[in-house]
Amino acid sequence: MLDKVVIANRGEIALRVLRACHALGIKTVAVHSTVDRNLKHVGMADESVCIGAASAQESYLNIPRIIAAAEVTDAQAIHPGYGFLSESADFAERVEKSGFVFIGPTADVIRLMGDKVQAIKAMQAAGVPCVPGSDGPLDDDVASNAALARGIGYPVIIKAAGGGGGRGMRVVHTESALPNAIQTTRAEAKAAFNNDMVYMEKFLETPRHIEIQVLADGQGNAIHLGERDCSMQRRHQKVLEEAPAPGITPEQRAAIGKVCVDACVRIGYRGAGTFEFLFQDGAFYFIEMNTRIQVEHPVTEMITGVDLVREQLLIASGHKLSLRQEDIRISGHAIECRINAEDPESFLPSPGVITRFHAPGGPGVRVDTHIYDGYRIPPNYDSMIGKLIVHGPNRLQAMARMRVALAELVIDGIKTNVPLQARIIADPGFQAGGANIHYLEKRIAERREKVIGL
Ligand code: ADP
Repeated sequence: MLDKVVIANRGEIALRVLRACHALGIKTVAVHSTVDRNLKHVGMADESVCIGAASAQESYLNIPRIIAAAEVTDAQAIHPGYGFLSESADFAERVEKSGFVFIGPTADVIRLMGDKVQAIKAMQAAGVPCVPGSDGPLDDDVASNAALARGIGYPVIIKAAGGGGGRGMRVVHTESALPNAIQTTRAEAKAAFNNDMVYMEKFLETPRHIEIQVLADGQGNAIHLGERDCSMQRRHQKVLEEAPAPGITPEQRAAIGKVCVDACVRIGYRGAGTFEFLFQDGAFYFIEMNTRIQVEHPVTEMITGVDLVREQLLIASGHKLSLRQEDIRISGHAIECRINAEDPESFLPSPGVITRFHAPGGPGVRVDTHIYDGYRIPPNYDSMIGKLIVHGPNRLQAMARMRVALAELVIDGIKTNVPLQARIIADPGFQAGGANIHYLEKRIAERREKVIGL
């Protein structure tokens, strides 16, 4: 078993990783920026190291400082959490070259999945269903691109091979708009990701976002832990997630799960990972793989009883997967609401001091957050300050528990998106289950028109 782990992250996920380490008897090192000395997990860690100024570039993205922190504390491994350096192949490589264990897949696999054109090729070769598309990078030949798009059928979407975070994409409805769209996306991709490679896919108009959680030990064993529905999105950012996905049958789950498991074994995947799919008219279309623990992992934990971060730590310690596919049983229904420090109408960030915090409780209620009374949210990072997760015997009871938990949650001193989450839970379209990825934005736009009186 690993003896000491550096947690190269902040906020709720740093605390989540610390808890899993301590439960396994693993010592922890918190690394933090100058404005993050008061983070909850920093006080709970066995050791802590300040690695730089508030700007993420100088601290949580500062590879030499993080590796130096592992060296001075005599740690063995580094857990990257999500965001920051979690999907940086260069980071994983330098961690391993410096003699530490990177808690995640190998640098080669991260690099492969980070290039979406290569990732799609690898997935097609592994038999994973993908969106009909260019099957490779686009050149600037107007005639051949037009022929390609005609073959796929409009609308199409131009996407950056190096894209992420919902950026670097452009939908095209007509042939006349195509050359310009390719040029603009290419220029934006070059500026944002320093990679001007773009590709084309059929634009699916009413898909749901459904993703499969996997665990693999890198020693030939892999399992899946069912799916999550993350269709409630705003600006391609997930707002609320649930598991299992409404309407997905055990047969559909088993079939797509097996495809993902086989792909993991084929590419030599190690650790926790997620295959993201668009789901439309009963068919799954792979869009990308996330090679890290995800924000929404708790809904899977609630319905399977598996502690995914514990499994990451066991795999990184060199253990073979102790769980077999038949050990994974899905029980009940779980919902997660992301709690953001932001104005629920304008969505502008709302950092500041939390004057009062009261967490909800009761059966099936879980709160993953680093906030506490008097905590000051710095303006430098993501506005997510925690996650409220509920589990119930079925979807109806999970929604009822979430309604009560949101009403019980008190966060004073700042604005939060709790009113938005309460509206989603009370919304008939959400309650029916199976809404597509545009549903939330549409409801938000309708409300804005009503409120502003347009
Ligand atoms: P990122 O890495 O930036 O998250 P993804 O490839 O995962 O990029 O796509 C992000 C989102 O963009 C998806 O969740 C979906 O909402 C939309 N999207 C991507 N590809 C398509 C497509 N072919 N058709 C329709 N929507 C798409």
